[in-house]
Amino acid sequence: MRVLLIEDDESLADGIATALRHSGYAVDHAALGGEGVSLARAAKPDVIVLDLGLPDLDGVEVLRLVRSHGVKSSVLILTARDDLASKVQGLDAGADDYLTKPFAVDELLARLRALERRLGVGLSSEITIGDVRINLASHEVFRGDEAVKLSRREFTLLRALAERPGNILSREQLEDKLYSWGEEVASNTVDVHIHNLRKKIYPEFILTIRGVGYKVGPAQ
Ligand code: CA
Repeated sequence: MRVLLIEDDESLADGIATALRHSGYAVDHAALGGEGVSLARAAKPDVIVLDLGLPDLDGVEVLRLVRSHGVKSSVLILTARDDLASKVQGLDAGADDYLTKPFAVDELLARLRALERRLGVGLSSEITIGDVRINLASHEVFRGDEAVKLSRREFTLLRALAERPGNILSREQLEDKLYSWGEEVASNTVDVHIHNLRKKIYPEFILTIRGVGYKVGPAQ
């Protein structure tokens, strides 16, 4: 998981960044709000840890700018202001959680794990069926050590089928998954993608249940 830390207090930032890296997070750090906004847009972090008291921009303003650029990262605000108003302002501006300084780094790590679970990233984000591994966070698919390259729609269908192996999904249910991208779906779209998935993974990976729909086949 990638974390962007926006914090001007150098020793605090060093301490947090070190602890996060030890816990396996990729960490980017910005000491100024403006720099933080640019990094948020460029690095697309999963979580932004944002100090509200920054020298150039107020943290709440940074959060508004980040959201106005369409950055969807979860945001955890750090604030020395323990008054209710600034917390409410931060949460209203789109923060997901907050910590009041001073805090124990262990508590920050626990809050990040909670955000991570809500985001559905981390170790639990992998589905394994036989020798096929589907990473829901990175959208990578492997058969054994071999990467399987899928289009966005193929991945969407694969995910829908693999999330509940054994369950049969009708063509209409699968079409709905594709329609959620907000695009027109031709009548044979599902068949075409199923055909491609069988070719790219292996033929028996997806079974046709005549008159009902499709399901993931037994593991090979
Ligand atoms: Ca500060």
